[in-house]
Amino acid sequence: EKSLVWFRRDLRMSDHAALHHALKNSAAVFCVFVFDTDILQPLLDAGLGADRRVEFIRGSVTELDLELRKLGGGLLVRHGPAHDVIPALARQLGVNAVFSNHDYEPQARQRDAGVARTLAADGRAWHSYKDQVIFECEEVLTMAGQPFSVFTPYKNAWMKRLAAADGSFFLKPYPIEKYAARLAPPPSSPPEKIPSLAALGFKKTNLRELKIAPGMSGACGLLEDFMPRLGQYGQSRDFPAVKGPSYLSIHLRFGTISIRTLARLAYQALHQGAAAGGAAIWLSELIWRDFYFMILHHHPHVAGAAFKPEYDAIRWESGERAHSLFLAWCDGRTGYPLVDAAMLQLNQSGYMHNRLRMVTASFLIKDLGIDWRWGERYFAERLNDFDLAANNGGWQWAASSGCDAQPYFRIFNPITQSEKFDADGKFIRRYLPQLSALGDRHIHAPWLAPAQELERAGIRLGQDYPLPLVQHDEARKATLQRYAVVKTVN
Ligand code: FAD
Repeated sequence: EKSLVWFRRDLRMSDHAALHHALKNSAAVFCVFVFDTDILQPLLDAGLGADRRVEFIRGSVTELDLELRKLGGGLLVRHGPAHDVIPALARQLGVNAVFSNHDYEPQARQRDAGVARTLAADGRAWHSYKDQVIFECEEVLTMAGQPFSVFTPYKNAWMKRLAAADGSFFLKPYPIEKYAARLAPPPSSPPEKIPSLAALGFKKTNLRELKIAPGMSGACGLLEDFMPRLGQYGQSRDFPAVKGPSYLSIHLRFGTISIRTLARLAYQALHQGAAAGGAAIWLSELIWRDFYFMILHHHPHVAGAAFKPEYDAIRWESGERAHSLFLAWCDGRTGYPLVDAAMLQLNQSGYMHNRLRMVTASFLIKDLGIDWRWGERYFAERLNDFDLAANNGGWQWAASSGCDAQPYFRIFNPITQSEKFDADGKFIRRYLPQLSALGDRHIHAPWLAPAQELERAGIRLGQDYPLPLVQHDEARKATLQRYAVVKTVN
């Protein structure tokens, strides 16, 4: 039997469910990655011709190919619509089956169902496996057999399920070494070539300058750096100027490291004294990831609409004013330094610290009155780690329209958040050097600084740095009114 493994958001060789199963069940295994024009063309159409994610994927694919070659295999790389490319390649190679890992996004599910149908019509099998999550969407349910919609009971049930299986079963890696000799090299000669960024229609980005290393080696480097910090995660993770989190999200997004590896390390540390506190909180973050995949799976309407339908009745700002407020937010010109620095971090690097994702999302929705979907879309275009499930979950949390979301009347004060989480303004100064001479006390709200302090710091508000777009106290009142409709709908 011959098979084909289709790599998608799982660009690694170790602990890869589909690769493991294909090797175990076939005599010869080909591997393929498709630069899918159905995904890439819309990016190009949206003017995102310089996209760090495409460059990251290309780097990861190059490394994966090299590693597979070391074992006698290699990667076939194609550029085209995957729904056509995969069945055609399966036919050309004469494989009996195509193996891949589950993808939970609605569009991907549609694509995979189509590919499976075409393969079946050709007499070929389609096998798909759980790989991206620890627990499948149906594996953690309430006592009544229903999906959870609140995180804490979900997390408790998740932990219980893991412990019941001795913690080891669900975290066990999928080895490939035993069957590696079954990896088949790409049949083509001359050898396969991985298309250049230019051939894909994309431009080079600043990924290298940012020191974001793609591939399995990039993920290992970050993990080695993070593990000694795991114990402090609980104390450090909320402060954007501090190296607190793991920065592994882009690797989880593209599967250059397996979630089982990370959950196993966290689970082990949880039972080993010193780092236990930090490990518990970090594991909890990994469980949020499973949670949002599960929510998207059971409630696909969240892609585009509120999880709680009554929140769809909210009337957001519209027209010219809404557009100019939105653009100011995108560009980091709101006049609130922490919000602006965070947006500049996103624009310049494709990453934004978790605390700041919450602050900027809240600011857009509850200070500027803009529809959360606009912000969700902007993040989707810019985040290196963009993931439909987590991004939608985060935005609906901030908009209060999500499952287990921030209550609508709880509204972040952007000044207080800044004073609390960037007290000495270190993060703000990194992205807004024009404010760097301002003292720690006034850097969070420059318009409240006395005139002589601004003069001493060489800042002309409205010229060197914008005046605030809105007054938080007034915006807060308007938001409570805007959300009043939620109470009256039922
Ligand atoms: P760490 O703190 O080291 O966490 C480890 C991993 O846990 C992360 O890599 C991520 O996979 C997972 N994780 C952590 N927090 C969450 C969470 N709240 N929800 C789901 N998974 C989580 N995360 C994304 O991966 N992609 C997104 O598109 C995304 N959009 C977001 C949008 C908003 C408005 C908000 C509030 C959060 C969003 N998050 C998203 C969640 C979180 O901000 C990022 O996962 C985290 O900042 C990534 O940095 P890290 O890898 O250093 O995280």
